Amino acid sequence: MSSRKAHKTDEAEKTSRADATKQTRDIKGVKRVERTSNRSSLPANALPLELHLAQAAYMRVINERARKKKSQQNSNQTNQKQRGICYYCNEKAVVYLRYADRHLCKRHFNRLVEKRFSRALREQGLKAKQTVVLAVSGGKDSLAMMLMFKKLLAKIPLNLIAVSVDEGIAGYRDESVARARAFAKELAIPHYTYSFKDLVGKSLDEIMANREGEAACGYCGVFRRQILNDKAKALGADWVVIGHNLDDAVETIFMNLLRNEPSRIVRFFEPLVQDERFVPRLRPNMWIPEKEMALYALLNDVPFENAECPYAKYSIRYYVRAMINRLEDRYPGAKFRIMRSMLSMVERMKRRKAGERSGGDKNRATGNGNPTNATTLEDELARLKTCKICGMPSNSDVCMFCKLLEEIGEDPYGYVKRRGLKGRRDA
Ligand SMILES: [Zn+2]
Ligand SMILES: [Zn+2]
Repeated sequence: MSSRKAHKTDEAEKTSRADATKQTRDIKGVKRVERTSNRSSLPANALPLELHLAQAAYMRVINERARKKKSQQNSNQTNQKQRGICYYCNEKAVVYLRYADRHLCKRHFNRLVEKRFSRALREQGLKAKQTVVLAVSGGKDSLAMMLMFKKLLAKIPLNLIAVSVDEGIAGYRDESVARARAFAKELAIPHYTYSFKDLVGKSLDEIMANREGEAACGYCGVFRRQILNDKAKALGADWVVIGHNLDDAVETIFMNLLRNEPSRIVRFFEPLVQDERFVPRLRPNMWIPEKEMALYALLNDVPFENAECPYAKYSIRYYVRAMINRLEDRYPGAKFRIMRSMLSMVERMKRRKAGERSGGDKNRATGNGNPTNATTLEDELARLKTCKICGMPSNSDVCMFCKLLEEIGEDPYGYVKRRGLKGRRDA
């Protein structure tokens, strides 16, 4: 009986080996085949094939069980950690950062936000004892920024001035400017308010009165930028500081992609033109996501309201924002990665531009009409003229600011007269 069984096994092994060799011959290079041939090359004298197989299957089950048990233990440990305890200390967490898979307590969250803030300032070139004009709208980004600057004063001596531009949007901007003024007073930072009405001649509401459904941001952005620049100049600023957070920055990048304006993307990271008529800009909140700015403001008693500009719904930014938030939702950390990619692309473009100037590879950069290539950027710089009305650098004989002023029926020369005035400090 037993000998017959042994014989049978022997036979089975033989057929199976034959099969194995056949398979190797038939289908070369397939994984399953390799495994079969390995099996047949086991020391045949040790155990019959079935026992080998049974043992291997058994070991697989045992190993799998051990692996499962271990991974469960690990995840139990992480679960404990993640049950609202700070990654760095034993305090209760106030936030979970999905992109970093980390819980943070209030102290460590503040530290993270403030570290990103001061690192951005350092990287963008702020030096001690400089005069810094903070553009404050009264929203969470600018007010939290004001608080962080106040804290920074303990480490670096700076001359801080806060400036609000009142565009004249009833029920929205008047309230937020009042909030900015009050908070500046609380922090003992001098504050100035400049209004569209006083400087340009009309409030934004008046400008938009006959333009139902049109995007206000075209006027608003151009006027605000010019006023901020001119008043910062009048106040003797080395820098204008803008409260743009990470979300704002990524939105701006996408909007410029949609409009095919790559030079604006470059300009976002650094000025194309270094001209004494422009006060350079700092964006210390650039690496802080919107949600984290809001949480920072909330945790540190910054008085803010989540009001949205009533003209925002006509803006392309509105759509881009929704899209980016969906991206971030699906792929946590997407916003950071987009910003980093853009930054390194801008760096590369700069290097290429520098190479070209020394007469390097001219052929590669010309010819294909690609608007991102450095030649186009250089052309743009070469084209730069001076506005014949206001004397600011411009792409054409009359700058966009002066054109828009004429369009709304106001006198650009009148603005030029008022441009250099500091005005009265109101807090
Ligand atoms: Zn902590
Ligand atoms: Zn002009």
